[in-house]
Amino acid sequence: MEKQQFKAESKRLLDLMINSIYTHQEIFLREIISNASDAMDKLAYLSLTDQNVGLSRSDFAIDITVDEKERLLTVSDNGIGMSREDMEENLGTIAKSGSLQFKKDMEQQEDIDIIGQFGVGFYSAFMVADAVTVISKKYGSDEAWMWQSSGADGYTITACEKEAAGTQVIMHLKADTEDENYSRFLQEHELRSLVRKYSDYIRYPIRMDVTKTRVKEETKDSDKPEYESYTENETLNSMVPLWQRAKKDVTEEEYNRFYQEKFFDYENPLATIHLSIEGNITYKALLYIPARAPYDFYTKEYKKGLQLYSSGVLIMENCEDLLPEHFRFVKGIVDSQDLSLNISREMLQHDRQLKLIASNLEKKIKSELKKLLENDREKYEKFFNAFGRNLKYGLVSEYGMHKELLQDLMLFWSSKEQKLVTLQEYVDGMGEGQEHIYYAAGESRQRLSQLPQMELLQDKGYDVLFFTEDVDEFIPQTLQKFAEKDFKNIASDDLGLTSDEEKKAMEEKNEAAKPTLDFIKETLGDRVKDVRLSATLKSHPVCLVPDEGMSFEMEKYFQKMNPEMGFKAGRILELNPEHAVFATLQIAVAQDPEKAKKYVEVLYDQSLLMAGLPIDNPTEYTDRICSLMQ
Ligand code: ADP
Repeated sequence: MEKQQFKAESKRLLDLMINSIYTHQEIFLREIISNASDAMDKLAYLSLTDQNVGLSRSDFAIDITVDEKERLLTVSDNGIGMSREDMEENLGTIAKSGSLQFKKDMEQQEDIDIIGQFGVGFYSAFMVADAVTVISKKYGSDEAWMWQSSGADGYTITACEKEAAGTQVIMHLKADTEDENYSRFLQEHELRSLVRKYSDYIRYPIRMDVTKTRVKEETKDSDKPEYESYTENETLNSMVPLWQRAKKDVTEEEYNRFYQEKFFDYENPLATIHLSIEGNITYKALLYIPARAPYDFYTKEYKKGLQLYSSGVLIMENCEDLLPEHFRFVKGIVDSQDLSLNISREMLQHDRQLKLIASNLEKKIKSELKKLLENDREKYEKFFNAFGRNLKYGLVSEYGMHKELLQDLMLFWSSKEQKLVTLQEYVDGMGEGQEHIYYAAGESRQRLSQLPQMELLQDKGYDVLFFTEDVDEFIPQTLQKFAEKDFKNIASDDLGLTSDEEKKAMEEKNEAAKPTLDFIKETLGDRVKDVRLSATLKSHPVCLVPDEGMSFEMEKYFQKMNPEMGFKAGRILELNPEHAVFATLQIAVAQDPEKAKKYVEVLYDQSLLMAGLPIDNPTEYTDRICSLMQ
């Protein structure tokens, strides 16, 4: 009979398992049991619509048997089973589900630690066994099959006999070595404690024959009772899923372990929300806020959703409708007895109960985040680092319909405090006379702090929020106002800092400088919308401000998204009339127009550079500076 080879990536995983020096080898049992439980879930689900299954939930069970002499540990289930093709497909390759990230990481590193970080599934059996046999019969089929492998050299599949549908995984344990005691996995108390530790919540009984002692019946009344040992088939797990238990009976460690195993994360969650709701609709929910964004979180591949159970039976692996986009990072489970079991996907979408649950969960998540923000700033900032961008997208999307919900979850960098602040904190910190919320948008904090317009605001002691993400600048547009204050972009808006007299004085100054300003306009042609004197510049000679409508940051954003459209913000060149350069320019305009033109070109290019915009011709720019220096 021909041996078949494992697929390349599976072989690597297998090698890792076989040669594993991983210290938590014991997790193999959890993996095998969890597969058995999944297989029974599948058949239980099928039985809802298929009368022929003939099994009800209480008929499903996992049996652990031990043959100490032969060193065999067997885990049997009466779940859906596998056909020959299933074996080929599922046991010959790393399964797609939880192991995907593992697969990716494996390509980059050989680190043994990653074993503990992800569910590694069936192959983990090879950490403790030198040969594994899987006997299985698929529900509805007449044939049974046996898959056998002693590791890296491949596997065989042969026909065999098996009465009922289901699967048996038979592990032949490795011989003990100086460092490793594999025999412990044949011991009753070890197996019992592993099941308790890792698989307690499995909703099917996990049974094992255990040896107990009792007083011999006939010596019961005597002074010297005699004891005998007997065997009893015992259910090892409590079978109550974590989310069904009372909050006070679950430890933080249990919550965290459950999260890590269920959602394939190696970090603990930042927050756990355990709800037990009774009322119009009754449900239990166990939600987690992860501490870091999954590698694919900001891509289309990432699927949001919660697992949906109806009275303990999994009815949907990923129910998207339970989570709004802005909270798509939340992981967890919802279990409600009020949902019909054989409800279809399409029907669920319109289900009133489901909508009710979803809107409830949204409020709970919000209040949990708020709590974190108020009580544990460090944790919240960690959260915001990972998922803040997603909240921002949520705020600006759908015409801002979620702004009430999300605006007080935002954090922005405060240039004055040098830390992240909420909008409320910004407003609370506004001093006497400050009317607006000031912000600046650009690619880095460092760049923004050097904006020419910053000086004026700093002099006044006003705080400026720094927006450094694409989406940030859409937030003031969406919110319009926060706490009755409107937003001002320090680089483009009228900052409302000049009095009527000052404005009048500015007009007069502009009028007086008209010949120079006209000269500049003529030189720059349609490259600029306008040229005027600045009321805000302090130590810099020029700056560029956008015409109303679109800011330079938006221009950059749209250029990146859609370069063909050629979006451009209107450019207005502002000059500082108090600056010595302006005086020099005025003299040149009057005495040496050729030189004055060069000055104008240089100043314009400088204003572009300071605004973070590309200049048309860098070579001309440097040549011009050189010629002026000569
Ligand atoms: P995962 O459980 O993450 O999918 P595994 O490597 O543990 O990955 O299992 C691979 C696949 O083999 C499973 O998805 C399932 O289809 C199949 N399988 C494993 N154990 C059983 C079982 N006891 N009964 C039926 N199918 C099983």
